[in-house]
Amino acid sequence: MTITSDITVYRADWVLPVAAPVWLDGGVAVGPDGRILAVGPAPRLVADHPGAALVDCGRSILMPGFVNCHSHLEYTTFRGILDDAEFGDWIINLVDVKASLTPEEYLVSARLGAIEAASSGVTTIADTSYGGAALEAAGSTGLRGRVYLEVFGVDDTRFDDTMADVLRRLEEAQAAAPATFDIGLAPHAPYTVSSRLYQAVSTLARERGLKVMSHVAESEHELTYIRSGSGKFAHDYREKMGWERMLVQPYGVTPIKYLQQWGVLHPDFVAVHCVNVTRDDIHTLRAKDVAVAHCPKSNAKLGCGIAPLSGLLHEGVRVGIGTDSPASSNIMDMFDEMRAMLLLHRAAERDVTVLDAQACVRLATLGGAEALGMEAEVGSLEPGKWADLIAVDVSRPQFAPVDDPYSALVYGANQNDVRLTVVGGRELFRDGVHVGVDADAVRARAVGVREKLHDRVRLGVVEVGAAESGWWHASPPIPRR
Ligand SMILES: [Zn+2]
Repeated sequence: MTITSDITVYRADWVLPVAAPVWLDGGVAVGPDGRILAVGPAPRLVADHPGAALVDCGRSILMPGFVNCHSHLEYTTFRGILDDAEFGDWIINLVDVKASLTPEEYLVSARLGAIEAASSGVTTIADTSYGGAALEAAGSTGLRGRVYLEVFGVDDTRFDDTMADVLRRLEEAQAAAPATFDIGLAPHAPYTVSSRLYQAVSTLARERGLKVMSHVAESEHELTYIRSGSGKFAHDYREKMGWERMLVQPYGVTPIKYLQQWGVLHPDFVAVHCVNVTRDDIHTLRAKDVAVAHCPKSNAKLGCGIAPLSGLLHEGVRVGIGTDSPASSNIMDMFDEMRAMLLLHRAAERDVTVLDAQACVRLATLGGAEALGMEAEVGSLEPGKWADLIAVDVSRPQFAPVDDPYSALVYGANQNDVRLTVVGGRELFRDGVHVGVDADAVRARAVGVREKLHDRVRLGVVEVGAAESGWWHASPPIPRR
């Protein structure tokens, strides 16, 4: 028996460990080091830890925090700005929008995204970021995760400069990373990164033991570009980026096959989207043990399609869920993402057996942790793992009666039902209040950024077309600790 006041027991009517059956009147005992000591019946945990503080979450579901496998915190102020553009137009217009923020404004945008993550129950985030604003924002909010530094460049005459810039940013980010974050690399996509640069980044990642994330097989435009060297990305997009003088080659293969032949697919690689993948591509993903970040709402809203989730899962590919950025999916609500995912796949396949609520919760937590290689530390409530947990309030009438907590979470809940978010035993959000963060000030500042952004884009103040000389490198420098 442990007698100490440094232990906290969180109690709720339901506890979902995810990797184990549900406990009714359950609890999670958290040690002073922020790790889980025990999960089980609340009365037993209270009896076993008589000096412990008790946090009773009442008619709530206690579960591991969500693992958001793909986000762009820096784009949070772009929410709703291009709501009805199809993917090609969306990404071309986003070039102007992205070029319009100052480094400080990117930081404000990322901070808004970070507090949204904490209040919506996300405890681990895999964010892609150019300048590291996301690292500062997420770290200071208390989240856990990984920031993948974005890399762009199709002009191999600039290769040396680009790699020098990658190394400089990597060293800055690693020096600035809080204890809860590590740094990865994100070659943006097959249509924005040359094969030589892709390979060099991949080699660098392997040499340094870094994880890699990349947008792959997201749109028909990308497919046409890689296969035929033509289409909107070969013309309109490259012109917008100032890349029109570079030769576009038709490779005659799918984006997955294209990456496979350059030898960049490996177990530390997360392929985001994978909407346009063939059966052969899925075999390749499994054979190379590549993980997939599934972003169902973003793909649907941009008209890209629906990734073949059941095929990926059936093949045994590691899959997590990502919200993508608010520029495409508007809100960072993992409940919404789970629900959209289940409904889309059931509707598209005309089959209710393709996905159930419990599978959705697993993908949004432990599945995401597995995709990111973090399953030993987070993703489920198990002794020894970090106490990254959330309480979802199901006391309101629309939840009654709760027979199955998985059903309540996936079919009924949304981010507003999160009443507690804890990372490593530290409370980040409780009953509508962000701990240690002035959320109102962040929100007000972000609204101001958005108003200026509208003016700049409308007035044509934004200069574009110098993609590899620093245009969207307007993200802020990474602050040194
Ligand atoms: Zn993305």
